[in-house]
Amino acid sequence: MVNMSDLYQTKEWGSLPAMERAYLLPTIEGIREGCIVSTKQVPNIHSLEYCLNQKGLKYHKKESIVIASANEEFLEKIIKELESMNIAHSFKGLDKKADKIIKEIEIGYHKNMGEFLGYPKCCTNGFIKSTLKRKYASNEWFKKAAKACIKGKYDPLFDYIFHVPHSIDCKKSLRLCKDIKECLECYDKKAAENLRIFNRGHLEKKVRKCTTT
Ligand SMILES: [Zn+2]
Repeated sequence: MVNMSDLYQTKEWGSLPAMERAYLLPTIEGIREGCIVSTKQVPNIHSLEYCLNQKGLKYHKKESIVIASANEEFLEKIIKELESMNIAHSFKGLDKKADKIIKEIEIGYHKNMGEFLGYPKCCTNGFIKSTLKRKYASNEWFKKAAKACIKGKYDPLFDYIFHVPHSIDCKKSLRLCKDIKECLECYDKKAAENLRIFNRGHLEKKVRKCTTT
């Protein structure tokens, strides 16, 4: 095994897209239990596997994603939940009684997935509420964030989110964002900058929309 900071200097790590590195790093460094990485932009899957193996992370490949965690038991649980969700969805809309059960499965899935990905419980619950109302939670968040931005009340730490915060004042989200920012800036500045630009891009788009309508 290569030591902690050495992995981030290898050609294998460098070959991964910066955004995928941003997703992986906080899991490698123990800030969050697990992560889901898209392999669509990964030029060589063996490089990704090399990095995960070097850090002793277990992983599961599924279509165009890799789910990884150091906690094998939790990883297995999540994979089973993912399969149950897929099965449940194939029965959706067939029967009212079945739909009620499917809804329960969905809620349980989001709760466990939120915990796996290290999201604050308050935010996971907020996400579930929006989803049940058939609202697109991420869109709702960027609207709130844009309004706060216009009023000068947006905390730039939110540029380092992976999840949908339940409110613009969510302290737990800000703490998580701070940890992610510090971790990325310490080990991989390009990954940190990529995540910031990605979230900023979405926010600025919404701000423009709010100020022109
Ligand atoms: Zn929250």
